[in-house]
Amino acid sequence: MKILIADDDPLYRRLIKKSLLKWEYEVIECGDGTEAWKKIKAKNAPNLLILDWVMPGIDGVDICRRVRELDRDSYTYILLVTSKNKKEDIILGMEAGADDYINKPFYPHELKVRLRAGRRIVQMNTELVKARNSLHKMATVDALTGIWNRRMILDALKVEMDRSIRKKIPLSVALMDIDFFKRVNDTYGHLAGDQVLCETVNRVRSKLRSYDSIGRYGGEEFLIFFQDCSMDNAWKQAERILSFVSKKPMNTSEGIIPVTISIGICVLNKGKKIDMEPLIKLTDEALYRAKKNGRNRVEITIFEP
Ligand code: GH3
Ligand code: MG
Ligand code: MG
Repeated sequence: MKILIADDDPLYRRLIKKSLLKWEYEVIECGDGTEAWKKIKAKNAPNLLILDWVMPGIDGVDICRRVRELDRDSYTYILLVTSKNKKEDIILGMEAGADDYINKPFYPHELKVRLRAGRRIVQMNTELVKARNSLHKMATVDALTGIWNRRMILDALKVEMDRSIRKKIPLSVALMDIDFFKRVNDTYGHLAGDQVLCETVNRVRSKLRSYDSIGRYGGEEFLIFFQDCSMDNAWKQAERILSFVSKKPMNTSEGIIPVTISIGICVLNKGKKIDMEPLIKLTDEALYRAKKNGRNRVEITIFEP
């Protein structure tokens, strides 16, 4: 684990460093508070700090305060080193955000065990953050295709609908469905079906603009919305997606599979108000028309209240 020591006394610094290296820490040294703060703010900064209280530049207690104001995922554990041993001083240091303190002079062994406690806290926090991130991912992202799941794309659509009303800009919502996908599963197996789903998503995404969004609405059905997109543009976008998906058959581990999709779109012109449910229903009806009219095509509805 990386550790930062900040102390203006070179002798002390050398002494601590020697011990830290022996205990297999990776050491970053600083001779004053300003240099230390610069390194703490940098990317991949150490999560364990040994800070001298009194230093030129920014003192140890002030660094504690600043570290606690940083908005970081990982925890920074701070051990203050001080020759102050009055109760009030210690309280001041801990109130500023230090996790622990050690009085100068100290035995190396005492430093070792105190750092061990700090290390445990940093490691525990890292694991917690990892677990939280992976839970968040599971709750928001579709595991197979890596795009947003149904809940997230609907939440995002709600936000976008509100924005389009507020800003009086058009919004186009699309439902896209793979044609005869059941046959893919039946002919080539579920594994190939999964690969076709992923490749379809990759192809569609490569044609979306950065401010458009896509999510998995159901099995082989996807919801896309095009921001600030009126009928003509939505049509062009959808045609572009449609032809790109079907242009080349897809390579899967079970064989080369031709794939087409159908797209239904509902366009909301400038500031038009509609609830989510009827909007999805209109979009779904457009998709149904695309299927009925031969598949591998786009159908559009313009919402007129
Ligand atoms: P249409 O052109 O009318 O859309 O016909 P279709 O065969 O695509 O539609 P249908 O709704 O009959 O079949 C959809 C199939 O998609 C059935 C289901 O087993 C399959 N499916 C849904 N989710 C997954 C998945 O995650 N992986 C795989 N391999 N298949 C899936
Ligand atoms: Mg289908
Ligand atoms: Mg379907």
